Amino acid sequence: MKRLQRLRATVALRDMVSEIGFGQSQLIQPLFLSEGAIQEEPLSGLPGSSRHTLSSLLTQFEKDLAAGVRQFILFPVPAQKSNRTFRADFVGTALGQMRQRAGNDAAIWVDTCICSFTETGHCCVHDSRGGQDLAATHAALESLAVSYVKAGAVGIAPSDMNDGRVAHLRAALDKAGHDIAPIMSYSTKFASNYYGPFRDAADSTPQFGDRRSYQLDVRNRNDALASSRRCAEEGADLLMVKPGQPAADLIRPIHEQTGLPVGAYQVSGEYTSLVLLAREKFLDFEAGLLESWYNLRRAGASYIITYGARLASGMGLPR
Ligand SMILES: [Zn+2]
Repeated sequence: MKRLQRLRATVALRDMVSEIGFGQSQLIQPLFLSEGAIQEEPLSGLPGSSRHTLSSLLTQFEKDLAAGVRQFILFPVPAQKSNRTFRADFVGTALGQMRQRAGNDAAIWVDTCICSFTETGHCCVHDSRGGQDLAATHAALESLAVSYVKAGAVGIAPSDMNDGRVAHLRAALDKAGHDIAPIMSYSTKFASNYYGPFRDAADSTPQFGDRRSYQLDVRNRNDALASSRRCAEEGADLLMVKPGQPAADLIRPIHEQTGLPVGAYQVSGEYTSLVLLAREKFLDFEAGLLESWYNLRRAGASYIITYGARLASGMGLPR
């Protein structure tokens, strides 16, 4: 059964998809958790963000809560890479402690993909001949997704772009008794040059080839729309375009074709370009950042994943 109640479950979720007004509650703050980190590692390509140890993650999380952030997306980076077995108990530990600190005041999503877990750095499992093993990929995503929700994630955000993954994840969550947990699908995700600074953060650079056989070709609008429609049909509750500004033309058409809330991921290349322009005094950083969010809202974005979510209330955006 399609549960329309999924996005009504908590104040944080209701505020996030409110169709009226614009505030910090509609911004999602990414956090990187590195199982192998010994200390917090600031990311040179993504100023203001770090790869965190569990302890520095919790400190940052508490600071962000105090700054009014109510939406988070966690990116787990395991210490051990594998091609078959993906262990994520460190994510469960972090989620449990985050939930202890925030209760239901914050919604914590977990980016659900395996490219930080695989030796290849790809978002899929490969078979012995080097081909894509879709069944093994689905199984890996299902077990990670169920473990994240069980540990306290409000919902999951599959980012892999493999065919059929939303249907498989929905079925797996339902079967495990989590039919109320929403799926925020990276539904229109392009193979983009704007992801550069992120790959260091998530330690997920492909070791061979690239992601063009599963991510979308920037030249193809029809495929981009079809990809989001497919996620909606398979049971996604929230859709997304990524990168945000470069794909802003697709946000409203996707909403009109599916009726679902559509968000935008303001990716590392977009965010860092503002930082670098400001460093050269070519623009005022906060004014430029606010403008970039307004642009995405005007294009129809319900929510925005942005590295600057924690700055919003300091910039005068209502909570
Ligand atoms: Zn991936």
